[in-house]
Amino acid sequence: MKRILVNGAGGFIGGHLVKRLKAEGCWVRGVDIKHHEFAVSHADEFIIGDLRDQRIMADVMKGIDEVYQLAADMGGAGFVFTGEHDADIMYNSATINLNTLHFGVKAGVQKFFYSSSACIYPEYNQTDPLNPECSEDSAYPAAPDSEYGWEKLFSERLYLTYMRNYKVRVRIARFHNIFGPEGTWTGGREKAPAALCRKVASAEDGGEIEIWGDGRQTRSFLYIDECLEGVRRLMESDFTGPVNIGSDEMVTINQLAQMIMRIAGKAIAIKPVPGPLGVRGRNSDNRLIAEELGWKPSCPLYEGLEKTYQWIQEQVAISQSPQLTTVSLVA
Ligand code: NAD
Repeated sequence: MKRILVNGAGGFIGGHLVKRLKAEGCWVRGVDIKHHEFAVSHADEFIIGDLRDQRIMADVMKGIDEVYQLAADMGGAGFVFTGEHDADIMYNSATINLNTLHFGVKAGVQKFFYSSSACIYPEYNQTDPLNPECSEDSAYPAAPDSEYGWEKLFSERLYLTYMRNYKVRVRIARFHNIFGPEGTWTGGREKAPAALCRKVASAEDGGEIEIWGDGRQTRSFLYIDECLEGVRRLMESDFTGPVNIGSDEMVTINQLAQMIMRIAGKAIAIKPVPGPLGVRGRNSDNRLIAEELGWKPSCPLYEGLEKTYQWIQEQVAISQSPQLTTVSLVA
């Protein structure tokens, strides 16, 4: 039985990945600085620990065959584009990645998965909302629009150096906006799909919600199950990457909001307000993943949003009812 370590198992993607690896029959150790906020972990062992701490990292690597490194100090535009968290983002995430590789190699780990991001792509290729360029080989000359993206790019390179110098196997994916149930939906670190689901769920029919910017900025969003399918296929393939794991169904933020309103059955006005925005356009280029893995994500955005909206609507209802909060904590 393969022994797997999932760093960031108390987070959104890590929590879902643990479930998937367990369903596949692996033995899984999860580590995070906190418990999962929305689900009980399926891991065989769940360790609360700070992965910046070298002693913790040395301990959790013991007896492990493969590592999925998902721990990062991260959030949506409201967290990474304000500039207020840049030093922490860079220090915390880089330290986790340095520790993962150093102590993983020391403990004899054979294979590492690293979750990079579409945020590594140069800002200069993403100024036209209808024609963003995000093919994997467009990453250089590098010019990410956030320090979060620069750290991801540094860490991609770090994993590749360990592959070259220490002969371990490495797989790198560049995730493009992953969404789904059991992810952060409030508090400042949430991303656009979750934030919009929350706003729509909280608004009255005929009411109004705020959107940052003019809403004509474009993005694509990938449902969590498809992300995990891509990760597992990449891990089992001979391809190192970096490779995009994202949807190529590009929409404007206004269109995303309208889809959610349709799901909710509510007519709501959109009020543009100033806010942190990121690049003007971004879409996943899926040619390389199709070529290398013979697969690419295909789940329509609308279907993933239906499942996500339902879950967030329940969270909003629970948060507004003290009685329900008690029930859900007991259960
Ligand atoms: P998340 O914030 O839900 O999960 C990250 C987890 O890392 C959190 O549970 C957090 O507590 C943990 N963590 C942070 N610092 C830690 C530390 N010092 N020690 C131990 N644990 C620590 O984020 P996610 O959406 O699940 O993302 C997982 C990975 O995928 C991250 O590396 C992220 O940068 C990358 N990624 C995600 C997306 C996306 O759209 N969700 C897009 C691109 C890349």
